[in-house]
Amino acid sequence: MLRNRYVHCHRAFVRAYATPASSPHALVFLEHRQGILDSGSLSALTAAQQLGGKISALVVGGPDQVPGIVEKAKKLKGLDSVLHSTSPQYSAPVPEVLSPLFEKLLTESSPFTHVVSTTSSAAKSLIPRVAARLNVPAISDITSLVHDAADSSTTFTRPIYAGNAIATVRAPSSVSIKFFTVRSTAFSAASIQEGADAETLAVDPVDVPDSPTQHLKTTIAKSDRPDLGVASRVISGGRALKDANTFASTLYPLADVLGAAVGASRAAVDAGYADNSLQVGQTGKVVAPELYMALGISGAIQHLAGMKDSKLIVAVNKDPDAPIFQVADVGLVADLYEVVPQLIEKLKK
Ligand SMILES: Cc1cc2nc3c(=O)[nH]c(=O)nc-3n(C[C@H](O)[C@H](O)[C@H](O)COP(=O)(O)OP(=O)(O)OC[C@H]3O[C@@H](n4cnc5c(N)ncnc54)[C@H](O)[C@@H]3O)c2cc1C
Repeated sequence: MLRNRYVHCHRAFVRAYATPASSPHALVFLEHRQGILDSGSLSALTAAQQLGGKISALVVGGPDQVPGIVEKAKKLKGLDSVLHSTSPQYSAPVPEVLSPLFEKLLTESSPFTHVVSTTSSAAKSLIPRVAARLNVPAISDITSLVHDAADSSTTFTRPIYAGNAIATVRAPSSVSIKFFTVRSTAFSAASIQEGADAETLAVDPVDVPDSPTQHLKTTIAKSDRPDLGVASRVISGGRALKDANTFASTLYPLADVLGAAVGASRAAVDAGYADNSLQVGQTGKVVAPELYMALGISGAIQHLAGMKDSKLIVAVNKDPDAPIFQVADVGLVADLYEVVPQLIEKLKK
């Protein structure tokens, strides 16, 4: 019964949205949390706009989540339609539960040529899973793209070796649906457009009664500070911060005056000075704020991979040969314990 209802809706959708074979039609997975659209997904939408074709968004969630998010999504600039699917199973979905919904949408005369998502934890599992099920490749963490309308190929760049090299890869026209995830720092977030009112289409959920994994709970690190991933200013501390108390008492007053988020090197995280969620780098968060201050951080390549695209990099380090100075716009060879209190004093004035 469920399946028949879905097929009916899906056919109507295909009729309304079928586009010529060469014309791109992207399906952008819009993630959300606590009633707010994920900013990384908004960057994915901007990337999809560069394909130069139609764009549909897909919103999934529980009954209390979807209506509010759809209302926000349909006002986004550049969206032709918003598909939404509601099920209690989608309240905090695991990839095994979402994958069948994507597979349904992308088979049976699907109009979609591209599937786009931000490089999120969810997408890292979901996107390759669905692509593999459809026997097509998935390209991850792209920083630019060019779609060739003449031959329907799409060419992407993506950082490799912790950002020390850039790979250029092409998905040729023979790839029926091109999957890619987007590095959010490389694309601005799509905005709300005055008067925009994209069409909305309900898609029946696909029930997965025996999912091999089930979501039990999500524990979110609580902080009154700006979110590290999207903050315009970030103050990061390294091993030089000695211990958790010194880390907090040295960095937080400076972060407060600047309205900045706090980050940390892996050495600081591993030593227990800062929470895991604050790690910046290859195996932590990738950030590109207006201002990034590295205090007592040497600048190992794995750390640089997470912050070197910041607009203004300020480094304070006792060692004049510290590699962080090679990427810093402003470098101070000094003891951070002398510099930081002076800086706070000056900024307060
Ligand atoms: C696979 C892999 C993944 C990794 N992923 C990450 C990652 O995501 N993020 C990350 O950060 N690292 C990562 N690392 C670790 C990385 O290689 C470095 O070990 C780490 O970044 C070093 O952290 P640090 O700069 O705080 O410490 P250190 O390298 O020990 O540097 C401390 C710096 O503080 C300076 N200093 C000391 N005292 C003072 C003072 N009073 N005032 C001013 N300066 C002072 C020193 O001169 C030194 O330069 C990874 C490593 C591997 C192998």
